[in-house]
Amino acid sequence: REGLRRSREQISASVEQLVLGKKVIDDELLEDLEAILLQADMGVAATRDIMDRVTQRVRRNELKDPAALRAAIRQALLDILQPRAQPWTPAKGQTQVLMMVGINGAGKTTTIGKLAARWKAEGYSILLGAGDTFRAAAVEQLTGWAERVQVPVIAQGAGADSASVLYDAYAAARARGIDLVIADTAGRLHTQGHLMEELKKVKRVLAKQDPGAPHQIWLVLDAGTGQNALQQVRQFHEAVGLTGICITKLDGTAKGGVVAAVAKALPLPIRFIGVGEGVEDLRPFSAEAFVDALVA
Ligand code: GDP
Repeated sequence: REGLRRSREQISASVEQLVLGKKVIDDELLEDLEAILLQADMGVAATRDIMDRVTQRVRRNELKDPAALRAAIRQALLDILQPRAQPWTPAKGQTQVLMMVGINGAGKTTTIGKLAARWKAEGYSILLGAGDTFRAAAVEQLTGWAERVQVPVIAQGAGADSASVLYDAYAAARARGIDLVIADTAGRLHTQGHLMEELKKVKRVLAKQDPGAPHQIWLVLDAGTGQNALQQVRQFHEAVGLTGICITKLDGTAKGGVVAAVAKALPLPIRFIGVGEGVEDLRPFSAEAFVDALVA
């Protein structure tokens, strides 16, 4: 809840000001409400969806008091987010691979570290694969997390072939009977086409050991990138077929509404949200908790 303070303050203050002293919900008030939702980065589709629901209830005379608007927004948001809240946990004794993708700086490595800590604490055995071989710093950073969380890591020097590092990581995990490999991947921006080809290659190579691998592919998104995030979801999903999304840095932005925009853009599960840099600042995505934190 604290992590979303900035978004909550902005939305709540705006809605409060909007309804202050108002006796009826008229078209002007609805237009102003629409502007508030767009400003919170809910995006066009989610905003339209929420406004349609609210407007219908106003037209049917179910919603008359401006003071009840906040509850109506909460309900509409909940309807959008609920289907996206699909928790995922590793399976014991199956050696699955969770491939993490996303552009540099989105919070991929940090999220991997947080996930490893969480699942290790829950009793799963975890191995990290340092597949972001493009940046030397990325390998060091992941190795640092592995030491901190005390899980094994498979890494090679910078410049090594990402697919081959992750192939080795998966093979090692299978040999050791480890529950889950969390695979880091490259996220450099300047050669987008090349990046997608590399990610596809990683998928192909992992599938040689088991056609079911990688078992999960999650995109890590920085909430602060706003509506740009939607483009990233579509691009990565088209290239590799995502099975989940993690949205980071919700603590640092007043644009928490982007979660609704992402939920509306594609029917993909939102797995976790990041609300800080610390190892404990990762929450399984819950629609209720999120709406509670966003619209108080
Ligand atoms: P990568 O390039 O995608 O691997 O990104 P990193 O994991 O290196 O993260 C980039 C920066 O974002 C680092 O300084 C992280 O500490 C920070 N970061 C990651 N997740 C969060 C989050 O949920 N909240 C905040 N405030 N910072 C985060």
